[in-house]
Amino acid sequence: AKHSGRNAHRFFTEQMNVQAVEHMHLETRLRRALERSEFVLHYQPQIDLASGAIVGVEALVRWQSPDHGLVAPAKFIPIAEETGLIVPLGKWVLGEACRQASAWQAAGLPPFSVAVNLSGVQFRRSDLLETVINSLVLADLDSQWLELELTESILIHDAEATLDTARRLKAIGVKLSVDDFGTGYSSLAYLKRFAVDKLKIARPFVRDLVSNADDAAIVRAIVQMAHALKLRAIAEGVEDAEVAAQLRLCQCDEIQGYWIARPMPADALAAFVLGRQPA
Ligand code: C2E
Ligand code: CA
Ligand code: CA
Repeated sequence: AKHSGRNAHRFFTEQMNVQAVEHMHLETRLRRALERSEFVLHYQPQIDLASGAIVGVEALVRWQSPDHGLVAPAKFIPIAEETGLIVPLGKWVLGEACRQASAWQAAGLPPFSVAVNLSGVQFRRSDLLETVINSLVLADLDSQWLELELTESILIHDAEATLDTARRLKAIGVKLSVDDFGTGYSSLAYLKRFAVDKLKIARPFVRDLVSNADDAAIVRAIVQMAHALKLRAIAEGVEDAEVAAQLRLCQCDEIQGYWIARPMPADALAAFVLGRQPA
């Protein structure tokens, strides 16, 4: 028993080493990718349900790898967060999203906001406000067009520093939204303390809206609560017309999802916006 125990231990350690080595490779490759400007942003439109107008886009990062093609964020964001690489990567995302929003406006597109995902690591950094201001100034973008998507896990850590950062971001005119609303924590106390602007209703509730009465009730309740608190509600992951119709009945303000469009490169987004404008 002793013998096999030692073997098991050695095996386990080797496994861990393999994992650590793979991890290290990925970290090195991600760092290099950042240096070589291999990251790109795709943009997914957000539609106002009442008017049908495009009121915003969400910026979603991808890695355009020479070896692996277009790599989805789920494959590298967790490692970027663990290794701290999310800080320089997140800075790049913020800068690029602001630059692109400003370029679209300069090209004559009707203005719409651009939403950027922030990870907790970024939000806890003391230089976030400075990074945001720098991005806006460098891009010559008015702060009203920048929205930051925060997760509930950021908001329940209502350390004074977190609250302070949120207040300062609001003070310069940046909008805040709560991503994946309803999936994280049951505490709603943070909604009172953080002056957020928008709730993004998480995809699992939206997906089964038509077939599941409980999910429909949850979505309706979230929209009503949002409106009672003078916030906007947007449903994520809208994949078909039935769900969109149901959301309209629930008086949800905005929708985002494959039914409108998948995330796409900046030039395709511009063409999409122009194509939807009334003649
Ligand atoms: P998220 O913020 O919840 O973004 C929405 C995800 O749902 C995106 O996946 C989008 O492509 C996908 N999606 C949109 N509409 C639909 C739909 O109708 N049906 C389905 N099944 N999916 C839909 P994506 O682009 O792979 O991003 C995954 C996650 O990676 C994001 O989830 C976000 O948490 C993270 N992420 C992406 N870009 C960034 C970034 O720049 N910074 C940080 N920190 N995280 C990011
Ligand atoms: Ca998001
Ligand atoms: Ca989301």
